Amino acid sequence: MAAFDYDLFVIGAGSGGVRAARIAAGYGARVAIAEEYRAGGTCVIRGCVPKKLLVYAARFADAFEDSVGFGWTSERVAFDWPTLIAAKDKEIARLSAIYERNLETAGVEVLHTRAVLTGPNSVRLTGEDRVVTAGRILIATGGRPVADSSVEGIEHAISSNEVFDLKTQPERVLIVGSGYIAVEFAGIFNGLGTETTVLHRGPQVLRGFDEEVRGYLHEEMSRKGVNFIVSDTLARIVRTEGGLEVTTGRGTVIETDVVLSAIGRAPNTAGLGLTEAGVQTSERGAVIVDEYSRTSVPSIFAVGDVTDRVNLTPVAIREGHAFADTEFGGRAVVVDHALVPTAVFSQPEIGTVGLGEGAAKQQYAALDIYRTRFRPMLNTISGREERTFMKIVVDAETDRVVGVHVLGPDAGEMAQLLGIAVKMGATKADFDATMAVHPTAAEELVTMRTPSERWRREQVAAR
Ligand code: FAD
Ligand code: NDP
Repeated sequence: MAAFDYDLFVIGAGSGGVRAARIAAGYGARVAIAEEYRAGGTCVIRGCVPKKLLVYAARFADAFEDSVGFGWTSERVAFDWPTLIAAKDKEIARLSAIYERNLETAGVEVLHTRAVLTGPNSVRLTGEDRVVTAGRILIATGGRPVADSSVEGIEHAISSNEVFDLKTQPERVLIVGSGYIAVEFAGIFNGLGTETTVLHRGPQVLRGFDEEVRGYLHEEMSRKGVNFIVSDTLARIVRTEGGLEVTTGRGTVIETDVVLSAIGRAPNTAGLGLTEAGVQTSERGAVIVDEYSRTSVPSIFAVGDVTDRVNLTPVAIREGHAFADTEFGGRAVVVDHALVPTAVFSQPEIGTVGLGEGAAKQQYAALDIYRTRFRPMLNTISGREERTFMKIVVDAETDRVVGVHVLGPDAGEMAQLLGIAVKMGATKADFDATMAVHPTAAEELVTMRTPSERWRREQVAAR
């Protein structure tokens, strides 16, 4: 008789957990996975996928406007929120069912319950009130939205968990924060015709991204009609007859219908039994792991957002796959977290890989910076003022491209391919040697010949 009920027990059927379970089962392991909400996890149910569907919906606003310059008549255009949400819900239900079916086809037992650790090899299924045992346990419980409980009336705010299920389209929305989620939802609501205000404690959107990209995004979002209140905080929310009354730290009063709090996410580890099982966590509550996703307990592993490494779906999937290969497939695989390309589905969109100019200046002694800002061809006839921005950051000593940043239509698609080149160690000469694809916006990436800036650390120091 087997010593444990399962070879592997996975807690959480999101991006990382599902991949790990399927791959481990493919290697012949007896695998079970517990999911307390819906198979697919954050990305599929209330993250990347429904968000992108809403982004597509919002983009039609510009498309209808632009079409007029090309000879179309675009009158009496109307948008219906319930139709969009119903279509989104149908698609998400379809995808979640596929996730579940794929798990079952792979031979994974799917348990619809919350699971908590009770020891190094045991888990309690709270919904079924029973304990099961496993040779290895994988924590893949993801993250959860953070709320600022010091704000009076914060219970009137919603998070990204609820925003996808709003029954009616708000006429006015106030979005707190200025990270990925805030700028993406600002674009969605603004595009769909909701009066949109972003309230941010800092001076500029998207801390951590290239400074110029941040500045131009801010500019373009404002041009599209998003209101910004910067260097200010959320102090109080009061429900009134007409909606919500928000007061900021500096005393500005805003009337709105919905407050969307998007001030970050934290690892989903509360009440998970980590202390009982002896699993060490960081100050932020993240499960501490090594390069093989091993925790402080030899039989317990963790992947994805719960480890707070790079909190993106493809990273969680890679980590889950690498764990299964290493523990059940007989080949040790380490995930490389360097040079992860990423996209922000703001409007306009950002695609980026590698270092921003500011970060590169901290690390390198000599940089050549190539920049271009231009009106994409679509906007010439349409008359739209919006401009695309591109920047290539090059280590002048080796000619190696250390960062590429794009703000404009299809920037996310470009980032995927730029990611390959930069990951391979492409030099600026390699970019120059690549023939352009014409007429595209992306061709600018291989036709920027003269640096707009030759930055040398010693010259800066000598000033
Ligand atoms: P998750 O996908 O969060 O899955 C964890 C699962 O565990 C959940 O289903 C949860 O219900 C379950 N669970 C938790 N605790 C328990 C328990 N005790 N018992 C049983 N089940 C449990 N990333 C991108 O790469 N691109 C994007 O465009 C993008 N957009 C996003 C948009 C939004 C609004 C949000 C919130 C996130 C977005 N992300 C995006 C991030 C991405 O969703 C996460 O990085 C990814 O889902 C992490 O996968 P994971 O497996 O670690 O966790
Ligand atoms: P982010 O960490 O990206 O942004 C958080 C924002 O909230 C920042 O602007 C931050 O400001 C602000 N903030 C933090 N704490 C407070 C506070 N106490 N009061 C006021 N403002 C505060 O978090 P998100 O929630 O937007 O997204 C979480 C993660 O999900 C992302 O980091 C990303 O990994 C993932 N994601 C990825 C997407 C994609 O790939 N396209 C899309 C959506 C999410 P400051 O800059 O001053 O710290």
